[in-house]
Amino acid sequence: MRFYYLLFCLALATTLSAQRTPIDSSLTVSFEDYDPPSTLVVPEHPMTRASIPFVDIHSHHWRMGTQDLDKLIGEMDELNMQVVVNLSGRGGEALKGMMDNINKSGYQDRIVCFTNIEIRSIDDPDYLEATLTQLRYDKSIGARGLKIYKSQGMSNTDKAGNRIKINDPRLKPIFELAGEFNWPVLIHYADPKQFWQDHDADNERWLELKLRPGRKRGPDNPASWETIAAEAHDLFKQNPNTNFIAAHMAWYGNDLTFLGKFLDDNPNVNVEIGAVIAELGRQPRAANRFFEKYQDRVLFGKDSYNPGEYATYFRVLETDDEYFPYYKRYHAFWKMYGLDLPKPILEKLYWKNAVRLVGLKEAMWK
Ligand SMILES: [Zn+2]
Repeated sequence: MRFYYLLFCLALATTLSAQRTPIDSSLTVSFEDYDPPSTLVVPEHPMTRASIPFVDIHSHHWRMGTQDLDKLIGEMDELNMQVVVNLSGRGGEALKGMMDNINKSGYQDRIVCFTNIEIRSIDDPDYLEATLTQLRYDKSIGARGLKIYKSQGMSNTDKAGNRIKINDPRLKPIFELAGEFNWPVLIHYADPKQFWQDHDADNERWLELKLRPGRKRGPDNPASWETIAAEAHDLFKQNPNTNFIAAHMAWYGNDLTFLGKFLDDNPNVNVEIGAVIAELGRQPRAANRFFEKYQDRVLFGKDSYNPGEYATYFRVLETDDEYFPYYKRYHAFWKMYGLDLPKPILEKLYWKNAVRLVGLKEAMWK
């Protein structure tokens, strides 16, 4: 009896599907166009300002030597950003110009500069001594850390045209000196792993690669993701007395279990969340468990400085809102969910970990 009933259902289903109107191709909507406003009605708590003062450990202000710092501080006050870390200090006289502007404006406690090094002249006979001299000078005028750009390990080549590896042994004294200075080294290495994958319908960064085709990489362009990441991981191991901050959660924001193991294996490494908030916002429960366990190892960073975009970061980290949009669809075609982080964890993420690593004045938060 049961068998005949199943047979009947199958026949009915076949008849119904045969009667279904064929898809009208003029109604086809492209992936890029299909972005309907959500009809979900749930409580909403948009945030334009962090609930407590925070440090942005990952920011870029290339013209800080001449820019109007009152305007920047005004924007920071609106966001409740107590300290901005300008990673583009450039070093030497460029850094001096920035520090002069900061000191003249009286913002030494609000604006921190990291310095940078030039790597492509690595073959010059005086390269190492000149670079170490520059770093000592940078420290003397107020630099608080070193930023290494992704060009290291990607586009920087020596005079023979060879890619300079991130863990090139000739650079080791530079990282040792940073350790001696107690400077954190914030390093952006590689890029999202999806840039190395085929640019097809299985790639989560399909839209980004369509809009920014220059970001596409391959196993020899300039090397595999695994090769570049392994060089950075070796750098961390080779310099146990230097604190590193791996930018963009070391590109493991979509695999927090692995990131946890990675942090367990590398006690001198911390991470920041710049440009990967959309990874956290799609896994609020797993992210909460991660923050609970690794609360001393994660810092707040944003990367590209655009005051309007911080709102999404605050909302993801601080609210329990559900299914709200991210601001850049090529980073996330999915919606965000708030983590509703407990205040003691939020304080570490927003400022305590940065205060400890950069050596900022804790008094500003009292
Ligand atoms: Zn950056």
